[in-house]
Amino acid sequence: MLSNKCQGCPPIEIITQDRDNKEARKTSIDSFVSRNEPHKVTVIFAEANFIRHCDHCRQLFTDKFQMPELWWTDWCKRSNGYFGCEEMVDEKGETEAHSTWLRFLIKHCSDNPTKGYFWYKLNIFTRWEYSTKSTTILVFDPKPAVRAHLAEKLFDSRKGLDAEDPYWPHCILAEEAVHLQDDAVWSIRTFVRNLEKNRPSRQNLVPNYADRHELARHAIHVLETLELGTKTINDMIIQHDRLQRGTDTAHHRQISRQLQFLHHTMRSLYCRSDSNKERLLNENQLAFHVMAQFDSEMSVEIGHAAQSDSAAMKTIAVLTLIFLPATFVSAIFSTSFFNFDAGSGDWGMSDKFWMFWAVSIPITLVTVAMWLLWHKFFPQKLIGEEDLRARRRATQLDSLHHAALVELAKKGGEKDVGKMV
Ligand SMILES: [Zn+2]
Repeated sequence: MLSNKCQGCPPIEIITQDRDNKEARKTSIDSFVSRNEPHKVTVIFAEANFIRHCDHCRQLFTDKFQMPELWWTDWCKRSNGYFGCEEMVDEKGETEAHSTWLRFLIKHCSDNPTKGYFWYKLNIFTRWEYSTKSTTILVFDPKPAVRAHLAEKLFDSRKGLDAEDPYWPHCILAEEAVHLQDDAVWSIRTFVRNLEKNRPSRQNLVPNYADRHELARHAIHVLETLELGTKTINDMIIQHDRLQRGTDTAHHRQISRQLQFLHHTMRSLYCRSDSNKERLLNENQLAFHVMAQFDSEMSVEIGHAAQSDSAAMKTIAVLTLIFLPATFVSAIFSTSFFNFDAGSGDWGMSDKFWMFWAVSIPITLVTVAMWLLWHKFFPQKLIGEEDLRARRRATQLDSLHHAALVELAKKGGEKDVGKMV
């Protein structure tokens, strides 16, 4: 049931073209639907995010253009790409209109891949009327650059005025998607190439793993959207061929050739993107291996130092062990507690001998206690400890950075593509 009131949708922008006239204006959805003006080419820029939540306007759009209800669903909104079409026939079975709906999703990184990114969405619905050869193209939520480009491209020739083929706008839309994907792929490629030129070395031992993984995430998304983009153009070709079967004309063949070429171009970008992802994986593996090699070399050095220390200590311990009993015995017998009479050959011992133990045992305990305290408050510096601390600091900073990026990605993802971050 149609709701009576719009819930505050922004006005839509309409550009129309006829044989002698081209005009652009902004108007409300109600006003546009009620006027019912036939034009050869009509391009409408609208905000689907508002209309989707406004029962009144959504129903107006659905009825006016016979859009499928599922187009407004959340799963269609969150989709990373699709193509669908429908042919309307009259009571006699003759073709009345041909509608298509398609979505391209393209991810662009900013100059620094860890600092930001944004999504381009080509969310299009087209309807071609067989009797009048007129075309209506709905462009939902375009970014300003895409909007300006499409407004120019869709009118830069007169091919839409007498279009006998409902797929004439699809060449322009697919070309726009290829153009945007080309920028996305080559921007990732530039980052990957820079990593290849600045590989980790002994002078640059701490690769920024968080940045590398963020870049890898973008590369995976670009590859994913390219795969869907290739499929989308391929589906266009299939449906176009089915529609034109039996009515082969030069115009149809030309559109087929253009779509084939764009499909091939998108496919080549897919291959390049796949190569970027593999190259990035290769660089990340190298970074891991270099770090593992450094750690291994450090362990070997520590082992050698420990082995050398151990050998020296063993020698000292053996020498001490040899002389210690004799030294102890000599020291005790040379004290005045014992007296040797050379004339009689008798040994005498003082009855104060207990004093020796009363003094030496506490001194020994105090010495051992001081040694323990010294090692506790002034621990020996270990080999490689400074490098280890530097890496731990870098890891902690990376973790904080990563947490901030996750938070940023969640906010951006909710705004742009739902849960896809
Ligand atoms: Zn509304």
